[in-house]
Amino acid sequence: MSLTIAFIGLGNMGGGMAANLLKNGYAVRAFDLSEEALARAGAAGAVRAASVADAVTGADAVVTMLPAGQHVESVYTGEVFGAAKPGMLFLDCSTIDVATARRVVEAAEGQGFAMVDAPVSGGIAAANGGTLTFMVGGTDAAFAGAKPILSAMGKAVIHAGGAGNGQAAKICNNMLLGATMIATCETFAMARKLGLDPQTFYDIASVSSGQSWSMTSYCPVPGVGPQSPSDNDYQGGFAVGLMLKDLKLAAEAAASVNASVPMGSAAGALYQLLANQGKAARDFSVMIEMLEGK
Ligand code: NAD
Repeated sequence: MSLTIAFIGLGNMGGGMAANLLKNGYAVRAFDLSEEALARAGAAGAVRAASVADAVTGADAVVTMLPAGQHVESVYTGEVFGAAKPGMLFLDCSTIDVATARRVVEAAEGQGFAMVDAPVSGGIAAANGGTLTFMVGGTDAAFAGAKPILSAMGKAVIHAGGAGNGQAAKICNNMLLGATMIATCETFAMARKLGLDPQTFYDIASVSSGQSWSMTSYCPVPGVGPQSPSDNDYQGGFAVGLMLKDLKLAAEAAASVNASVPMGSAAGALYQLLANQGKAARDFSVMIEMLEGK
């Protein structure tokens, strides 16, 4: 018998993820505050629920893909817990702060439920294509229950440790990404000013010790390296606003454990400047325009 998943939050990411659960034989009971999101889930084959509680009633597990910590906390403590059957498994795939993630898991476990935090790497294309990477925090038993469900939506499912460690892995990764992208952008801007052709510098640095994913998979210079958002006027890809959200979460987490993150802090300040220039919706590699004085 196929499992039924209550899926809450069917926006840019959740819509594609729910569709992949359906393609892999799961039944989905969908709820979103947005009629448009709900209609898309219905068209993909999900049952449209009237509320969070209605979605959860009769389901075997709950997956949430919501904007931020306050939504996750209020949906679980205010609605999911009251409607869930005993021992039910919850999977929160949203990107939220580590402290809230740990608090919600603790509250769930306190009521006899199992829960993982399972944020993703990969954007809307990976959500639609079922190629997300999930970084999972939770007990061994909760991870074992979550893995087949997550595998239906992604290409890699990695256990990062106890509750909150999925979120910790996600923000550490994205802080590293934010900083390496800025370093890549400022380096290409400087190389150009020094008279180096960007393609020539790419050919050298991509086989030298300056190599990074930000350069060889996602080069911020249009026309250099594999196809990336820079080739499409920095449309699509990973928005500046979302990178800024993750860097703010990283700053909060760093402060909570007194970690020194000077590069992460500088990255946050620079992405804030970029957002203030009206570029929050463009791909985060558009940073190079600001560093080239455009
Ligand atoms: P989104 O805004 O497109 O979707 C969120 C959905 O949640 C919306 O449809 C909204 O109506 C719904 N929602 C909000 N409160 C609700 C409630 N109380 N009950 C039911 N539905 C509710 O956002 P998204 O781009 O899909 O991102 C979701 C999460 O994934 C975020 O935490 C984001 O940081 C993370 N993420 C996004 C990307 C990306 O590229 N978009 C990549 C990785 C991770």
